[in-house]
Amino acid sequence: MSRIVLATGNQGKVKELAQLLAEQAIEIIPQSEFNVPDVAETGTTFVENAIIKARHAAKITGLPAIADDSGLEVDALNGAPGVYSARYAADTVTGKVTDDDNTNKLLSALANTPDELRTARFHCVLVYMKHENDPTPVICHGVWEGSISREKRGEQGFGYDPIFWQADVQQSSAELSRDVKNSRSHRGQALAKLVAKLS
Ligand code: IMP
Repeated sequence: MSRIVLATGNQGKVKELAQLLAEQAIEIIPQSEFNVPDVAETGTTFVENAIIKARHAAKITGLPAIADDSGLEVDALNGAPGVYSARYAADTVTGKVTDDDNTNKLLSALANTPDELRTARFHCVLVYMKHENDPTPVICHGVWEGSISREKRGEQGFGYDPIFWQADVQQSSAELSRDVKNSRSHRGQALAKLVAKLS
């Protein structure tokens, strides 16, 4: 059984990846088990931030590492909130922010944007590094197309899901079941690519 450290504190992500990789005799260990402290995400691209997190976890644990970085790209805002999706509406002093703050700020920013120009997509980049100085990390990219609705709908998911609209099923991603979301999502696609590459 080979061991890989996962550079996230998110239990959902740990469980999802651990299940998928168990069949490949790969054990996923969350970085919290090694007391890996968070690292500043100073990159301006998803790829840079994922590499920063994977390299940091590999350096501290001495194990191969996987990290992800994801966010929302809105065309009418030149790609914002992008790598700043999690902290888009963060208070400049305290840094505090909620999902509602972020979605409200995005709805305001697009208040005068017509429906046909509200296109957007989620990105997820997953990176695997054999060791801290790995010069050729495995990089997998998943993309999920949609548009930004004018009001929130649905209770599932997290983040921008209530305003991420899927025109083909006339639902927001917060109205999709977990399985349906996984089969469409940026994260589901990036994960499938990574599992294929690691196996
Ligand atoms: P992280 O990569 O987990 O830090 O996610 C970055 C941010 O992008 C999250 O905090 C959310 O605001 C947003 N985001 C990423 N994936 C999703 C998703 O599947 N649904 C809704 N929001 C998402």
